[in-house]
Amino acid sequence: MKIGIIGAGATGLAAAYELIKAGHEVTVLERNNELGGLAASITVQGTPIERYYHHLFASDSHIISLIKELGLEDKLTFHPASIGVFYDGKLHDFSTPADILRFEPLNLLDRLRFGTSGAYLKLLNSCQSLEQYKALDWIKRYAGAQATKIIWEPLLRGKFGDRASDISMAWLWARVHSRSFKLGYLEGGFDQVYEALADAIQDKGGEIQLSVDIAKIAQPSAKDKVTITLTNDQALLYDKVIATVPQPVFAQLIGSSTTDNLWQADYLGATCFILELEESFIPYYWLNVNDTTFPFLAVVEHTKIINKAQYGGKHVVYVGNYVSREDWRFTSDPAKILQKFIPYMRRINPHFSAKQITNWQFSKAPFAQPIVTPDYHTHIPSHETALPGVKLATMSQVYPQDRGQNYAIKMGIEVARGFLR
Ligand SMILES: Cc1cc2nc3c(=O)[nH]c(=O)nc-3n(C[C@H](O)[C@H](O)[C@H](O)COP(=O)(O)OP(=O)(O)OC[C@H]3O[C@@H](n4cnc5c(N)ncnc54)[C@H](O)[C@@H]3O)c2cc1C
Repeated sequence: MKIGIIGAGATGLAAAYELIKAGHEVTVLERNNELGGLAASITVQGTPIERYYHHLFASDSHIISLIKELGLEDKLTFHPASIGVFYDGKLHDFSTPADILRFEPLNLLDRLRFGTSGAYLKLLNSCQSLEQYKALDWIKRYAGAQATKIIWEPLLRGKFGDRASDISMAWLWARVHSRSFKLGYLEGGFDQVYEALADAIQDKGGEIQLSVDIAKIAQPSAKDKVTITLTNDQALLYDKVIATVPQPVFAQLIGSSTTDNLWQADYLGATCFILELEESFIPYYWLNVNDTTFPFLAVVEHTKIINKAQYGGKHVVYVGNYVSREDWRFTSDPAKILQKFIPYMRRINPHFSAKQITNWQFSKAPFAQPIVTPDYHTHIPSHETALPGVKLATMSQVYPQDRGQNYAIKMGIEVARGFLR
């Protein structure tokens, strides 16, 4: 079969790799001029690094298997996850159960309630009983109002911004349930996975076309081939197509009249600075900024887990946000956004000054995080679409787990296998 894959992110490349191994003729069409989608990399001092902070959990078995299959296993390293919380003008350690027991902003009873409700979620094997609840309602009831206000609500805000109060408890369960204490990273960047997949696909005769802008996908009837029309009016014909683009993009490509249910998924965008610093910024890998007056939600010091020698001796720090596509942090000039962030960064680390930034880069993605509400699971579209030869394999179909490279790869492989049966 001649199969077209739209999108060269984790899902698209995993699907293409699976199909080419099965002997099909595969072409991957990608709008950007880089591989990896949301997990794409830029370079810091010559070393590839993800545009947005990326790590793995020990439970991410699908990507770990793929890393092994691609011969990259030696580069996968796991590191203790040092986590901090910035609250009430101070940094608080938040990595271990002992840190939580010492977490000053909560009284002892609230710390215990926080700990036991978290342990319950870790032990609970299914989210079915939680699906109907909004996370903040459930948490308030079981972890208490204080733990909700000081810890959970800011954490959810860190991920979903203004939509935090709409999020399903099933999503939060999956986050807590599958989280491991150690975080994995591929030394030299996850880019190596996507480059290795692309090489393997091309070695077996597949094609990867970057900077290809698709205007339309059509298939008048099951007997017809699928036509992908590019914005330059070129028409490409395939027996089957897998689209891995965000749902709203897919709906546009196939014509919204046949896809009304696809519009149910709502997404936040993501923005992220990578700062190269002369000095370390925080004593943790990950800092949740639990102060709602701050204009950013998380700070991730990548070089707390990966040796800074790999980045020319620079301390590499991400400053990230999930925001709506209309938000000033998504629409404004990045240099101006960074200027606005600096005074807040000084509140986290009074020794920090803008002079310590030797270089910075900014990335933004319009469809970065589906908003998982309690009724979300009733809207998730099937991989089958209104067009019989076209399957949809996209981030918003990952549920209840948080979307991530692992689930993207799992879905890409599964959907590809659907064509092989
Ligand atoms: C801030 C942030 C932090 C993250 N942290 C982690 C983490 O720590 N660990 C982890 O595993 N995952 C993390 N993720 C999630 C992970 O990056 C994604 O789940 C995964 O990369 C999704 O892959 P995908 O292929 O399904 O989608 P995408 O990566 O979105 O790929 C879709 C591809 O389709 C292309 N495309 C779109 N429209 C068109 C078109 N019209 N024509 C052609 N191509 C098109 C896009 O350019 C893109 O390359 C993070 C994501 C973000 C934003």
